[in-house]
Formats: sequence, structure tokens, C-alpha cells
Amino acid sequence: MSVTADPIPPADRTRPAIGTSLWVAMYHSVGDCSDDPYRVTVSPERLRLQLRWLRRRGLRGVSVADLLAARARGEGRKLVGLTFDDGYADFVDAALPLLREHGCGATVFVLPGRLDDENQWDPLGPRKPLLSKQGILTAAATPGIEIGSHGLAHIDLTKVDDETLRAETAGSRALLSELIGAPVQGFCYPYGTVDQRAVDAVRDAGYGYACAIDPGPLNGPYALPRVHIGEQDTAVRLFVKHRLHRLRRRPVEGV
Ligand SMILES: [Zn+2]
Repeated sequence: MSVTADPIPPADRTRPAIGTSLWVAMYHSVGDCSDDPYRVTVSPERLRLQLRWLRRRGLRGVSVADLLAARARGEGRKLVGLTFDDGYADFVDAALPLLREHGCGATVFVLPGRLDDENQWDPLGPRKPLLSKQGILTAAATPGIEIGSHGLAHIDLTKVDDETLRAETAGSRALLSELIGAPVQGFCYPYGTVDQRAVDAVRDAGYGYACAIDPGPLNGPYALPRVHIGEQDTAVRLFVKHRLHRLRRRPVEGV
């Protein structure tokens, strides 16, 4: 994966305070992180400690859909969005039991064009299996777990033609909604790369929100900023990241 480096705009104090503490954490794979050149893996032991840290602070991890719904009701200040990108098979095997153990939900962004495939888009590997159709259904049937789309095949949407953009956004939503038997609300930009054209395509496809990483001026319900959480994130670092995220991010309108 790559991380966009758009400058973070200064806090806009005219926005409603409701968005100021919206905190969405970004995970990918949960497993052995001894060979992890893209820093996308946390060990189950580390995830357990991080979830315990959240709970001890009176916070609870939930899906982005649940977080946004709570905020729309003027509630949920103690909720944190937990997201898992790429739909690795270890989400069901390793992350799900830990989430349940700590009473947390999450959103997993899967690739309906790569069922039973591997993370071919990361040239250095290591190869990791992606969720099968059954794995996605298992996750979808778990209370508090939201299935979102990460596109069809993990392609940078800022570099594709119109037809591919439609297929990756509207096409993946149609496939995934049919697979899980429910409308898919969330989208997540592969590599976190996003531009206005991609935002428009995601909105036109019928999604209710989309996750980015550092969306800069596109910050909003269709380009939500997220904080990368990795194996090195101990309690102290999580505390700092939480504070920095609240201080540095421009509030998100409408959520
Ligand atoms: Zn990804």
C-alpha cells in the first residue's frame, strides 16, 4: 500500500463540533508480522492490547456505518471506527474473535473481484490469502460487522478511465450487495488515493460514505481521514495518535 501525503488543512473552527472527534483507525492484516514490508500487519497479541486499551479508556470500536449513524443522532462520542482494508482471510480467523472478545464491531473493506485470490498488488509480498465468498458471508453474519467495498481489484482510482472507474465503484457495489444480500454503504479508496472524480463516482454509485487516509481538501463523508495503526502502536503511541488526530483533522461536515 502507499499513503498519500496531502497537507492536512488547519482546523476550521467554524465547523460544528460534532465532527471534531471522529476517529477512524485503519488496519489491514492480523497475523505474523515478521515479514511485512508494507507495514500492513499487526499481530493478534498487539491487536488484543490495542482493543483492551480502547475499552479501558471507555471507548468502543464499531463499524464506520454504526459510527456515522450514532453521530447523526448526536451520540457516539465514545465510539471509534475500526476498519480492516483488503479483506484478508485472517480477518475472520484472527481479528473477528478478538473483536468479539472485546465487544467491538468493525468494517472490513473487501475486493469482490478477487475472491479466494491473494494480494497480488503488493509486488514485494508476502502473499496473503483474501476472503472467500464464505468468509465474507461469515463476517457479514457477525453482529456489528459491516462489509464495505474496496473496489473490484485494488486499483488506484485516480489513474483509471471512466469505464474502469464505474466498474470499480458501482460494479463492485452491485456484486457485493448481491453476495451479502444487503445494500453496501461503505467504500474505501485503494491506496488511499482519491480525487474529486473518484469521490463523484463513489457518490453516484449509491454509497453513503467512503474512507480515505489523508484526503486533504476533499475531507468529508466521501473522503474520511483515517489513522494507520500498526504493530508498533503501543498504548502510549495510541494515546498520542488519538490526540493528534483530534487536533489536526479538520472536522467532517455532515457526520
Ligand atoms: Zn488496500
